[in-house]
Amino acid sequence: MPTEALWYHTTDDHTVRCKLCPHACIIKEGEKGICRVRKNDSGKLLTDVYGFVSAMNLDPIEKKPLYHYYPGSSVLSIGSYGCNLHCSFCQNSSISQSEADNSRQKQYFTPEQLIALAMNQPGNLGIAFTYNEPIVYYEYMIDTARMAKKAGLKTIMVTNGFINPEPLDELLGFTDAFSVDLKAFSEEFYRKVTSSRLKPVLEALRQIRKSGKHLEIVNLLIPGLNDDEPAFTEMVKWIAAELGKETVFHISRYFPQYKLTTVATSPESIRKMESIARRHLTWVYTGNMRNETNDTYCIVCNNLLITRFLYNIHTPGLNSDGKCSVCGNYFHKKT
Ligand code: SF4
Repeated sequence: MPTEALWYHTTDDHTVRCKLCPHACIIKEGEKGICRVRKNDSGKLLTDVYGFVSAMNLDPIEKKPLYHYYPGSSVLSIGSYGCNLHCSFCQNSSISQSEADNSRQKQYFTPEQLIALAMNQPGNLGIAFTYNEPIVYYEYMIDTARMAKKAGLKTIMVTNGFINPEPLDELLGFTDAFSVDLKAFSEEFYRKVTSSRLKPVLEALRQIRKSGKHLEIVNLLIPGLNDDEPAFTEMVKWIAAELGKETVFHISRYFPQYKLTTVATSPESIRKMESIARRHLTWVYTGNMRNETNDTYCIVCNNLLITRFLYNIHTPGLNSDGKCSVCGNYFHKKT
C-alpha cells in the first residue's frame, strides 16, 4: 500500500526531489521517479511497493552470491518491484522493470509478518533483500531489517550500489552483509547500458568497506560490452587498492536476457579474466559456469575448507567458529 517515502524534500510548487539515489529525480505532482515505484502525490513522495513481495524463497546463501559469509547456510530471500537502473541485460526484468500496480502476483507482508515467517524457517540465517533492487523498496527494507536485528536474524542486501551516502549510512546500522554488483569499470558503460553512473557505486563500495560490514563483489562479464582486458584489469586493481586484496570477487557468466541478444560469454573468456583477477585479489570465484566446482582452501595452510558444486555446499575444513580446522586461521568471523 502507498506509504510515505524517506529521503525527499518538497518545493513550494509541490514538486518533489528524491534524495535516495544519485538520480536525484525531480518529480512533478502525479508523476513517478526513474525507478517507477516512487511517486509524487500532492507534494508528498510515496512508495508504491511497501510490503509488496514479488518473490520469496529459502535460498542457499551462495546464491546471493556470498561465499565467505556463513557458508552452507540458508537465508529467506525476498524481492519486490522496480529498479533505479535500466540494464538491457537485466536477469530479473519481469519484477525489476515493472511497477507494483501492474503485477498480478503481488502479496502483502508487514515487516512483522516477514520476521515471523523468517523465524519459522528451520536453519534460516536471516533475511536477504534481493531479486529486484532493494534500494527502491528502502523503507520496507529498513523497517524489516531493524526488526530482524532485534530478533537476532542476519540481514543481507544484494544491490547495484547506486545509492546516496546518507541513506546508505543509515542502512549500514541494520545490515550485516552486502553483495554488490560492479557492472563494469567505465562511465560510458554505466551511462549507455544501465542508465546510471559508475562513480557513486565506487563511493558506496568504499563506504561499505569502511563500515566493516561483510562485502562481496560480482561482475557479470558480457562479450563486447565489459570484457575489455585493460578496463577489467583496472577494475580489479582498484578493488585491491581501495577495498583490499582479500575482497571476495565473483566473475559471473552472462547469458542472453531481456533486451540483450549478445551470445553467452565463452568459458575461455571467464578463465582469462579469472587469471587476471587472481594476480591482484586473493579470493576469486566464477559463477554461472555449469558443472564446475568452486572450492575454497585456507590461505595459510592450504587445507580444503569448503567444497561447492552447484548448490551442494560442504565445509569439511571449517570449525564451528569459522576457523580453519588445521591451522586455526579465521576464514570468516561470525559477527
Ligand atoms: S530512488 Fe527512484 S525516485 Fe528516488 S532518485 Fe532514485 S530513481 Fe529517482
